[in-house]
Parts: sequence; C-alpha cells; structure tokens
Amino acid sequence: MPVADAKGGSAVPDREPEGMDRSRHMEDELRERNERFSAAVENMSHGLCMFDADERMIICNGNYINIFCLDPKVIRPGIPFLDILRHSVDIGIASESAEQLYAIRKPYIDQAKPSTYEETLSDGRIINISHRPLALGGWVSIYEDITEQRRAEQELKEQHRRFDAALANMSQGLLMYDADGKMIVRNGRFLELYKVTAADFPLGTTHRDALERLLELGIYTKIDVDSEVAKTEACLVAGKMHSAYRHLTDGRTILVTRQPMSGGWVATFDDVTERRRTEERMTHLAHHDTLTGLPNRQMFRERLDLALEDPAATPLAIFSLDLDRFKAINDSWGHPAGDWLLKTVADRLQRCLRSETDVVARFGGDEFVIIQFNFKGIADAEKLAKRIVETIAKPFRDKSRDMHVGISMGIAVFPDDGSDADTLLKNADTALYRAKSEGRNLYRFFEPGMDAMVRARRALETDLEAALPRQEFDLDFQPIMNIASGEIVGAEALMRWHSPERGTVAPDKFIPVAEEIGLIVPLGEWALRKACTAAAGWPAGLRIAVNVSAVQLKSGGFARSVISALAFSGVPADRLELEITETVLMDESEAVLRTLRQLRGLGIRIALDDFGTGYSSLGYLRRFPVDKIKIDRSFIHDLGNRDTAAIVRTVIGLGAELGITVTAEGVETEAQLDMLRGNGCNEAQGYLIGVPSKAADIQRLLESRSVHSQTG
Ligand code: C2E
Ligand code: MG
Ligand code: MG
Repeated sequence: MPVADAKGGSAVPDREPEGMDRSRHMEDELRERNERFSAAVENMSHGLCMFDADERMIICNGNYINIFCLDPKVIRPGIPFLDILRHSVDIGIASESAEQLYAIRKPYIDQAKPSTYEETLSDGRIINISHRPLALGGWVSIYEDITEQRRAEQELKEQHRRFDAALANMSQGLLMYDADGKMIVRNGRFLELYKVTAADFPLGTTHRDALERLLELGIYTKIDVDSEVAKTEACLVAGKMHSAYRHLTDGRTILVTRQPMSGGWVATFDDVTERRRTEERMTHLAHHDTLTGLPNRQMFRERLDLALEDPAATPLAIFSLDLDRFKAINDSWGHPAGDWLLKTVADRLQRCLRSETDVVARFGGDEFVIIQFNFKGIADAEKLAKRIVETIAKPFRDKSRDMHVGISMGIAVFPDDGSDADTLLKNADTALYRAKSEGRNLYRFFEPGMDAMVRARRALETDLEAALPRQEFDLDFQPIMNIASGEIVGAEALMRWHSPERGTVAPDKFIPVAEEIGLIVPLGEWALRKACTAAAGWPAGLRIAVNVSAVQLKSGGFARSVISALAFSGVPADRLELEITETVLMDESEAVLRTLRQLRGLGIRIALDDFGTGYSSLGYLRRFPVDKIKIDRSFIHDLGNRDTAAIVRTVIGLGAELGITVTAEGVETEAQLDMLRGNGCNEAQGYLIGVPSKAADIQRLLESRSVHSQTG
C-alpha cells in the first residue's frame, strides 16, 4: 500500500532555472530521501500513524490500516484523529464510542513524554499502542498486534504452573542445574527428603556446595565430594544417566539419579529405604535356609567360589557333616522335635567355629557344610572336628525330652584334595561316607583311593536295594540246646543273601549297610514273617529267635509288624524271642523302651545278643529287664584264658541271680560245653550243637531231637 502524504504529489517544490544543476540535484536528493522514508514507514512491521499539532493525520502505513481494518480511501492525510476513531468504531474497535475512545487516548497523547498502553479490540486482538510527542507539535503512534505474543506468554505461564504443580507433587526430590552448574529448580520433596530448609539450599547453589552442605549438616555419612563432582561431569560429557545409592546418617537410603538435559542436568532423589530392605530380605531369603537361618547351598557355593577364585587363596578345609540317627529322632519324636533339633544343632555348630570368617551352611535335611579358612594344617581341622563331635554328643533337651544324635564328618582340604568347589565338596562327601560306614561320630579326611571304596560301597547299596524284590534273601536256622537236658529248645534265624553276582554274602557285610539305607525295616519285617512261618511247622514249644536291629525298633510300627507276623503264622507270642543288641538299650529313647515293654507284655521274650562286646553292659540290664543274655562267641572262643573264663562264670552267676536265662554262643568244642555245664550255663548254641541250616533240614533235626519229640 502506498504511503499517504500530506502534500499530495511531490514533496519537493520547483526551482529557478539558474543554478538548475544544483537545485535539480537537491530536488533529486530530497525526493530520494522522501521515497526512502516512505519505504521505511511502509515496511515497518508495526502500524504507524503520525499527527500534526491540529490532530490531523500526516502519514500512516498499511499496517495501521490493516490493524484497524480501515478504508484506505477514507484514511487520507489531513483527516482528523477523531474521524479516524469514528471509522474505527464502525469496524468495531473496542466497545466504546469514538468520543469515549478519544477521551481515553487523549491524555496519553497530550503527555510530553512517550506513553504506552494496551487495548483489546472487540475481536479479541490485543494491540500495544505507544504515543510519542513530536518536537514540532503533534505525535506519532506505533501500533503492534501482540495477540500471538500474549497467547504464547499465557501458554508458557500455564506450562510453568503445571510444571510447578508437578514438581510439588512429585514423590521424588528434584534439583535442576543449569549449564553453569547452578541450581535453578528445587522442589519441596527434596527439602522434605533431606529434612533441610530452602535457606540451606538456595537457588544458585552449585553441585559441589550442595554436597558439602549435606556433609556439613551431617546428613550424608561419608562422601568424596571431588569424585562425586567428577562423576557428574563425566556423565554429562558422556550424555548418560548415572545412579548411585546414598546412605544417610539416619539409616535411610536414597537413590540419586543424574540425567543430562539440554542446558544442564537434573538430579532426582528417591527414598528407597523400604525397597532396599525388602530386596535385602529377599536376597537373605534366597541365600539362607529358612529353618536354621544358616547360609544355604547357593550362598555357600558363592562364598567358596569367591575364596577359590582369589589368586592369593590360602589353604582351607571343607567339612561335610551329617547327623547320625536323625531319622530316628524324626520318626520317634515327630517333625517339630526334629526341626527344633536341627535349629539347635545349627546353633551349636556356629558356636564351634572360632573364626568370624568361617562359614557353616545347611544343605538340607541333616546335612551341613563348613568352610574353615586360615587352615594351617591337619591339626586345625582335627581340633574343630573334635569340638564338633563333643558338642553334638551332648544331649538335646527339649521340654522334658532328651534326644541324642551324633555327627559324622568328611574333610577335604584345598588345594591338596581339589582346586575347585565341586571336587572339594565331592571329596568331602566321600570322606563323610567313609566315616559313616566305619561307625558313627567320626571324622575322616579325604584320601586318594577313597573314591574306589565309596564306589564299591555304593554298588553294594544298589545291589542290596534290588535284592529284596528279587527274593535273593533266605533264612538259615541254628539250633539252641538246653545244656542240662541236652534237648533242642529252639533255633535262631540267620539271614543269608544269595547274590547272583556276589555269591552268598554274610549278614555282617550287608546288615549294617541295610541299616544305613533304611532297607533293614522291610527286610527285617520279611525275616520276621519268614521265621514265624517256618516255626509254625515246628513241634510245639520250640522257640524261634529273630535278630532285630536298633533301626527297626526305632522306625515306629515295629510292634505292629511283630504282631502281624505272629498272627499271620499262628505262632504263639511266647514262642518268639527277639534278639536285640546293647545299642538298642544305649539309646535313651523312651519310645523304644515303650515298644519293648509292650512286646514283652504280649509274652514275647527279649534276648540281649552279643553280650559283653558293648560298653557297660550291666547298666542296661537295669534299664530294661531282658529274659535272656547271649554271651558273645568271642568269650566262648577264649574260654582257655583264665580272665575270660572268670567273666563268663560271673555272667552265668549274674543271670542265675536275676532269673535271666544265659545262652553261650559259638560253642564249638566239648571242652567249652563241659565248662559251661559245670558253671550252670542254661543254653548253648554253636557248631558243636548244630550249624546254621536250611529250613527243611532244621525241621527234620528239631522233630528228631526236640523236647516235644522226646516227651511226646
Ligand atoms: P548273631 O545274632 O550273634 O548270630 C550268631 C552268629 O554266630 C551267626 O553268624 C552264626 O552263624 C555264628 N555262629 C554260630 N555258631 C558259631 C560257632 O560255633 N562258631 C562261630 N565262629 N560262629 C558261629 P551270622 O549268621 O554270620 O550272623 C552274623 C550276625 O548278623 C548275627 O549275629 C546277627 O547279629 C546278624 N544277623 C543275622 N541275621 C539277621 C537278621 O535277620 N536280622 C538282623 N537284624 N541281624 C541279623
Ligand atoms: Mg543273634
Ligand atoms: Mg550273637
């Protein structure tokens, strides 16, 4: 749009011909200046309107016309200001009349200094208006449509409001630092979290100052400010997020995360105390045995692997431990008692360890494992092993119960017996196995070659387990004679294993193994039935003696199996004799004694087998009144020895005194029999009287030589 000019056509007057060159030149220059001025006014981004002292318009630009939607044909130079307002009103400027509008603008215009104000048009546009008085009178007005700018400002304000609300409502603390490392944002949660005031952390604080302040206030326990600042810088340079846990002096844990952003970085602070505790509980659970609270297999492995991976690893010993007779405790006292015992064992084991670093773990059941660090030699491990055996041997008193267990141990030493955890654990197990098979309450060090023995033993177990269903067992019977009368009074059932691979295996070889693997329970039950069935066909009055293992007696349900064997065979209870060993009475288990009393109450006789080979035999006679004592064959074999003979005489006398039948085992010679007869021994058993024989053979023998056949 062309710029309207007050003088109509040219702004420069004509000149005289003389000095034409000069005046034309000036004329040209003036026109040029005018054109430049007009172009500048027209190209302004704002609306412009100039008035003279009489309030008539001198010049205005297209933007002005546009802003107020005026008619360029009407708005010509010379038009009074009030008229322009009248036209403006027509197109709906504000809601005022032209006179009112004039009254509003007039004071601004009249001011001797520039003035600025805003007007909102009826269509919603916001116009910034500034008036500037001119030196010659009149004024110039500049109009700017600032609607868009205002909208953007409003939007930004709203954004800020939302941002502030979000900051205030965050569950995390938040700090924002600008590119110069100065704090520019800090939310309330940050102050709450650290229990500090805004005055402690004013905006503008640097990261370093903030850290130092936290230390000063005693909030952080320990922190290397230099390295923290360096870490932050590194994460900014790398453009990566960085997180770290901070431990506060009050015990809480804060997760601090730093994240670069354009023009600085933001740090968030999360109170993760509860989460960490839960995580710790979870890891504890995953690494510990719930019953005893000891480390579990997994944690033990981690500890051991860690120790062995250390290039400077020093010798250490691995103990593999297993309780003796634990199954019997569980069976006779119940699982709660078993659990209590395991917990107490765990406590005692822990107290046996002398070093803080040593580890005792539970692998499950009654299996425990120990790492003994700082191992200086075999003597170290032996000392610990002895301490453990002694500690576990002490009775476990729970309520009114007295429980007894033992412990067997296998020990493997690093590096001699293996350099990795698997080998060491396997070798400690091998040694444990050896300790178990040699008796209980023992410890054994791993030795090369044990492997082969253990493999052989395992093979024996496997074969033995298969033998019962394959019916490879059989019973032999050995007659027992009344010495005074020379009559056969009964026979003892002796178990035989006819293995297709191994040939006939003696009970001394397989009974202890059957006890260990629990096979003795079904095997013993089978022997009882088989023996009673055989005895059912014997002449009346002849007794059948059956050997019973301590494991059977403790297994619960033993009395039932005896009664059912009697019922099944029809043999009267007073013809059955159960041979038990001292170990049965040694165990102070009340349940076992109750079972024995119950059976004895039924008329079944209880014999104490292998008398003299155990510990203090006489004490046990008081604990439980047996019907018969069987003097071990080693005494009879050694009767030539005066001391042995004296012992045998004493035992015979003791039996007579207590009214207990005394049987001599392993009688092989007439001399032995004469001596026994001379001292009043009641019964004899041995090769001299009869070797263990097949059921059919013994049947014939009994029919020919028994009390029954002789009297009947
Ligand atoms: P035991 O109960 O003391 O059985 C007597 C053992 O002495 C038998 O050995 C028998 O063959 C042997 N013997 C008998 N007379 C003589 C003799 O004059 N001289 C010599 N040197 N030995 C003689 P066996 O049959 O090898 O049994 C060994 C042990 O195995 C038995 O000792 C018993 O404790 C156990 N046993 C045998 N059968 C069973 C069973 O069915 N159940 C249980 N739990 N144990 C059994
Ligand atoms: Mg016997
Ligand atoms: Mg015996």
